[in-house]
Amino acid sequence: MDYKALGMKAGLEIHQQLNSGTKLFCRCPVGKSESFNIELHRKMNPVQSELGEEDPAALFEYFRNRTFVYKADTNTSCLVEMDENPPLPVSEKALHTALQISKMLGCSLVDEVYFMRKAVIDGSAVSGFQRTGLIATNGSIETSFGTVKIETVNLEEDSAPAVGKGAITEYRLDRLGIPLVEIATDASMRTPDQVKEVAEKIGTLLRATDVVRGIGSIRQDVNVSIERGNRVELKGYQELASIPELVENEVKRQLALVEIKDELQKRGFSPIGYDNKDVTQLFKSTKCNFVKKAIDNHQKVFGLKIPKFSGLLARQCGDRTFGKELSAYPASHGLGIIHSDEDLDKYSLSLDFANLRKELHAEDQDLVLIMAGSRPEKAIKALIDRINYCAVGVPPETRVADGIGSRYARPLPGAGRLYPESDVPAIKVTHSMREIAVPKTLEERKDDFKELPDDMKDQIIRSVYYAPTMVLKQYGERLAANLFLSNYKEVSRKGFDVSKIKHEDLHILLKSVSSGSIPQNKITDILIELCSGAELNKILEKYSLVSDDKLEHIVKSVIHDNPGKSDSALIGIVMSKAKADGRCVSELIKKFRR
Ligand SMILES: [Zn+2]
Repeated sequence: MDYKALGMKAGLEIHQQLNSGTKLFCRCPVGKSESFNIELHRKMNPVQSELGEEDPAALFEYFRNRTFVYKADTNTSCLVEMDENPPLPVSEKALHTALQISKMLGCSLVDEVYFMRKAVIDGSAVSGFQRTGLIATNGSIETSFGTVKIETVNLEEDSAPAVGKGAITEYRLDRLGIPLVEIATDASMRTPDQVKEVAEKIGTLLRATDVVRGIGSIRQDVNVSIERGNRVELKGYQELASIPELVENEVKRQLALVEIKDELQKRGFSPIGYDNKDVTQLFKSTKCNFVKKAIDNHQKVFGLKIPKFSGLLARQCGDRTFGKELSAYPASHGLGIIHSDEDLDKYSLSLDFANLRKELHAEDQDLVLIMAGSRPEKAIKALIDRINYCAVGVPPETRVADGIGSRYARPLPGAGRLYPESDVPAIKVTHSMREIAVPKTLEERKDDFKELPDDMKDQIIRSVYYAPTMVLKQYGERLAANLFLSNYKEVSRKGFDVSKIKHEDLHILLKSVSSGSIPQNKITDILIELCSGAELNKILEKYSLVSDDKLEHIVKSVIHDNPGKSDSALIGIVMSKAKADGRCVSELIKKFRR
């Protein structure tokens, strides 16, 4: 695809959890809960936002009239997350890391950090807002295709993740309030691969600071548009590798919508009203099981004619048909559609649809569809609004990644969704905060190791064990790197908890190995014994080798006492008398036999 000709533009918003020990505005730990002992229910009511603007995202959610259920575990959430207590002072550790990240991105720090409330009406915060503070602006990152501008760095609270979807939506509070940095770039990326490169670069930079690692700890949102399309926000990418494919799919989707717009213009389509017809009677004796079931459950079947739309819903729109793409809009109100561009035989609906066409006076160029439910007004309105937008082009909206594509989630939030958080005092960015030391980048860390092969270097600089390796490399770079990259891994794989190993024991262990009194191939066994609670000096006693002088003496006497025996036989005899390194014994035998 010729992305330049299509005028593709993309920008990134990266959200990274900070390893700050506690949440941003309470002292609950940063961690995951397995079970939840409290449940609370909330119903959102939309208000004119405090800036006096109507927020379309807020109204949209209001019309969905949902009740939100929150699952809480008192070990990972308190009254602050439940919006029953005011926030505590900001986590200093989180602020420290956010300042470091801003400096590493070459941003200018603000004079004072003001926390704001950002309206989130989807239920992912009990309070209906997320606290966010602008830390820095105007930075940059170098890439293979030029400089990408970092527009803003914000320090904010993570949201509560949903655990289910439907009329009632459940959220868990363990993640709510975990500190996040949000890094927003300009829209200077012109190809899907460039988007991936920037995400990768920023991710690598973040990994040099104190951040949470693992699945879900970093999330990328991508804004994509093409010249004839519109800005669409794609949420929920967690895998860097899939970014190019997902961006490419979005470009294809927007392109398909532009083609549909052109086609509709050719066909002379004009926007339609919300008219629909109760056609329940027509489907009374349908052979289609799920339509029959709906009618048996006292639901009604509504029919809709869309003039000049025939064939369009069978078209490909990115990774799915346009029919499937459209169905996401009524689906956001809980209803599905069946339309005449589908294989109706499959649903045993061909005959019913022939009658439906007659009933709705549909012509060949018209599409007809049905929807079943008790109160389908909102779903029908959402569908018709979307259908009418086809004549305009690509709707600006927020979408969530699903598979290699994405599906409609909600309209883009309005500009008026920020208002001041009066419970959190402004934080003055002092001189010492400006002079904060920044950690080495991964690139700079590479220079810390002179003796390691490149693959080991790459692993250790990204590892959580980078800092201890730096301390222990005085006993040998390879020895220290291997300890964490290989021995620790083996010990963990065998089910032992390496976090039980004391740092000072590692010093003594590596010192003994580097001086030759403990064989390197015993390190894993020794670590396992340490994990099991044994004392280091007792373990070392068990594994330590005889001194060089003593070993020489034993080798000489064995050679003397066993004339005519082979080297390997002599090695066996020496090893049975003394704990020693086999290779060392073999060398000594060769040396003294001459
Ligand atoms: Zn809390």
